[in-house]
Amino acid sequence: MRRIKIGIPRALLYFWYGPAWRVFFQEMGLTPLVSGPTGKEILNAGVKAAVEEVCLPVKIFLGHSLTMQTQCDCLLTPRYISVNKGEFICPKFMGLPEMTRQAVGTGRQLIWKSDHKCHWGSLKALPREITSGYAQSRVKKSLKKAKAALEAYHLLMQGGLLPLEAETALLKGSQPSAADYEPAIGLIGHPYCLHDAFINLGTVQLLREQGFKVLVPEMFPARQIALELRDLPKPLFWTLGQRILGAFRLMWKKGVAGVVYLSAFACGPEALIGEMVKRESKAAGLPLLQLDLDEHSGEAGFITRMEAFLDLLKRKRRYSCV
Ligand code: SF4
Repeated sequence: MRRIKIGIPRALLYFWYGPAWRVFFQEMGLTPLVSGPTGKEILNAGVKAAVEEVCLPVKIFLGHSLTMQTQCDCLLTPRYISVNKGEFICPKFMGLPEMTRQAVGTGRQLIWKSDHKCHWGSLKALPREITSGYAQSRVKKSLKKAKAALEAYHLLMQGGLLPLEAETALLKGSQPSAADYEPAIGLIGHPYCLHDAFINLGTVQLLREQGFKVLVPEMFPARQIALELRDLPKPLFWTLGQRILGAFRLMWKKGVAGVVYLSAFACGPEALIGEMVKRESKAAGLPLLQLDLDEHSGEAGFITRMEAFLDLLKRKRRYSCV
């Protein structure tokens, strides 16, 4: 019997939940198909399909969805409202299924929810087609395995691996350890800006080639980040913003040489966090480079600014060692 193919776009919060989705659908006897890494074709398709005002990461998601459309029977289009108790996620995630339907057409969608009533790992969060079409015992068993995979994936990242490295280790069942060398540099931003090498013009590779160990927010447990932000007069209710500010503080405590902040052009929630990070870096005397990403990001200017910043960090470090 032909197995049903579920298309999973490698975009947005795939970098947090992707490996667990894969495990879930595999355990259900379905075939998960993850789209390939972002490239020019995907970007162009997304830009063409989206309204002008939408941010680059959403355009990329639409591009991935469009390229998968003919290869799968159903497309996973998550609807996130809240991924942690008492916190919210950007409203763009709320309307993702509708935006995708508009862009992709009438193909079948599986909507996996995460909201304040049913978070990611609950039965209620699962697509309706799954809970009504399969035996409950099988669904529960698959969900249990997916949750275990999610935990293992995040533990690998907290051990120092980047999402792609952690995903590969999880799929192969290996336990690689992260390289531990100095100096370290912080890289902050939303996961889909940091871990999509096409959007950020290969930032991680560039930093590593220049001899830096790269720390990203996914390497810090959510609990540690929440503790770090206890002193804020008002809690930040945007999960993604919390991760950025909390990770920034933790990176500073770890003694990083500097921090690169990749932000998505036209991202509303990031405007506030960007300002907070800027103020804190100034107060702490920690060098910060903030770069905006959009579909027009020119490689030459981007790389030149990055290299100039890294030179400055290296020089600063040399003098402080004299
Ligand atoms: S948080 Fe910003 S970058 Fe992310 S989806 Fe929302 S608007 Fe786009």
